[in-house]
Amino acid sequence: MKRFVQNLLNWYEANRRTLPWRKTKDSYRIWVAETMLQQTRVAAAKRYYERFIEEFPTVESLAQASLDRVLKVWEGLGYYARARNLHCAAQIVTQEHNGVLPKDKRELLSLPGIGRYTVGAILSIAFGQDEPVLDGNIRRVLCRVFHVTENPRLRRVERRLELLLVRLLPKGHAGTFNQALMELGATICTPRVPRCAVCPVEELCVAKRLGVQSELPVSAPRRALPHHEVAVGVIWKGDRLLVAQRPPEGLLGGLWEFPGGKRKPDETLEECLLREVHEELGIIIHVKRHLTTVQHGYSHFRVTLHAFECNWRRGKPQTLGCSDWAWVRINQLGHYAFPRANQKIMEALT
Ligand code: SF4
Repeated sequence: MKRFVQNLLNWYEANRRTLPWRKTKDSYRIWVAETMLQQTRVAAAKRYYERFIEEFPTVESLAQASLDRVLKVWEGLGYYARARNLHCAAQIVTQEHNGVLPKDKRELLSLPGIGRYTVGAILSIAFGQDEPVLDGNIRRVLCRVFHVTENPRLRRVERRLELLLVRLLPKGHAGTFNQALMELGATICTPRVPRCAVCPVEELCVAKRLGVQSELPVSAPRRALPHHEVAVGVIWKGDRLLVAQRPPEGLLGGLWEFPGGKRKPDETLEECLLREVHEELGIIIHVKRHLTTVQHGYSHFRVTLHAFECNWRRGKPQTLGCSDWAWVRINQLGHYAFPRANQKIMEALT
């Protein structure tokens, strides 16, 4: 075990990538970076991190910003609950902890959007505490080096990996150790083709010795994702377009979009659009022509968006199934935060 830790730390010291969040021990910045990195690749997270920190350099500045502005800065990064939780947690930290993230595990865990992984990262990297972290990269490395042949997502297997990490953790260097393991998983022990020939722990890796590295970690069989057909209205009134804001909770909460919704089994797309727009905003529209079709995947389902250009006919929009609405010129669409699938519709408009 000692050799594993030593080899890993020596390798990390000589090979670690220069990343903006590695230049700081500021707990707020570590928190923002780790939140972004949970579902985003490093290259994309880097760009967004720098922009986010420039716009909201402190917990207080994030807490004071409007949610609309936070979502706009987050636009394109996906998994928007992360941005909403960061914003909400920043307000709690400002009000209850004088703008400084608490160093206590339980208090951190009580903040929205902060789970065990983020807690481990903040406590070890920013506060120097001996806390392990277990993310996808680390799971993969451990399953291969120590030949764990069960699905590491099962709670009992995860518990085993956590105990293993606690035993491995070099006291006083948890932050570096955690980052070194993540780095090894991200750059050398990659999912499909691990680069064993240049791996610092190759001689200790059981999976490599047995030639089973590409079979680990074991994953649960994939289920087919549900698929929905969605009709979307790009609704004109003169030179303005109607946009609606999604309710604050749930998928893509707080983001703006072109109105529409899921098709029912017995409906045509046009019928669906007329019904959805009426239910959501209380207005009557005329469907003019098909504009574009967009395929998009979310973590738990896939959608096909059928966008139609429409004309407004009757009624003042109301917030029946949305939190807000606005008539905007095409050159003002950029002021609003839209989900990626809606951005593809905008591209078809220009
Ligand atoms: Fe991963 Fe290969 Fe290194 Fe083992 S030897 S940890 S499989 S890169």
